[in-house]
Amino acid sequence: MRVGFEKVYIVYRRTEKELPARLEEIRHAKEEGVEFIFLHAPSEIYEEEGHVAGMKFEIMELGEPDQSGRQRPVGTGKFVDLDVDTVIVALGTGPNPIIQKSALTDGIELNTDKKGYLIVNEDTRETSIPAIYAGGDVAPVGESNAINAMGAGKKAAKAINEYLAK
Ligand SMILES: Cc1cc2nc3c(=O)[nH]c(=O)nc-3n(C[C@H](O)[C@H](O)[C@H](O)COP(=O)(O)OP(=O)(O)OC[C@H]3O[C@@H](n4cnc5c(N)ncnc54)[C@H](O)[C@@H]3O)c2cc1C
Repeated sequence: MRVGFEKVYIVYRRTEKELPARLEEIRHAKEEGVEFIFLHAPSEIYEEEGHVAGMKFEIMELGEPDQSGRQRPVGTGKFVDLDVDTVIVALGTGPNPIIQKSALTDGIELNTDKKGYLIVNEDTRETSIPAIYAGGDVAPVGESNAINAMGAGKKAAKAINEYLAK
């Protein structure tokens, strides 16, 4: 809304009750004019000459609770289109797989866990590649937040300094 789009939607496959965001974030978004559409799951992004030309959604209803305790969204088999020209996908986060892929291509062994996060020495933040350090969300320790990312950066900086001094 702030950069001048006429309409901005947040489309979510469950209801407002299950929305994984802080209450004030939802309230602020609404105050700024963002329109929430609940019980809709993305099904297709239409394309015209390489550009987004709309989106198709399946209308959902809530079923039995899943492992997280939240009611699972179930498709109704009914679909609707939404006239949009820009799509921002917000379906969780993960490390950029290019890091592991390029290491593999170059024949470099890079230790990652099964989700692709880098495994590092917790004290020095050094990866399995000597003299390459990592911190922040790509090599998380505990919760992924700005403070932990900065803390990891500080640890890595100290270790890098010691490495270079040798
Ligand atoms: C919606 C949301 C809300 C959040 N709210 C908070 C909050 O309130 N407080 C808080 O502390 N934390 C919050 N976080 C978490 C916080 O944003 C992250 O923990 C923090 O940004 C991690 O910093 P980082 O430097 O590790 O990674 P990032 O900030 O993700 O930086 C990684 C950078 O690397 C770039 N990159 C990726 N691949 C490549 C490549 N191949 N080549 C070059 N560049 C590349 C990316 O574009 C990105 O700019 C939030 C996160 C999200 C998604």
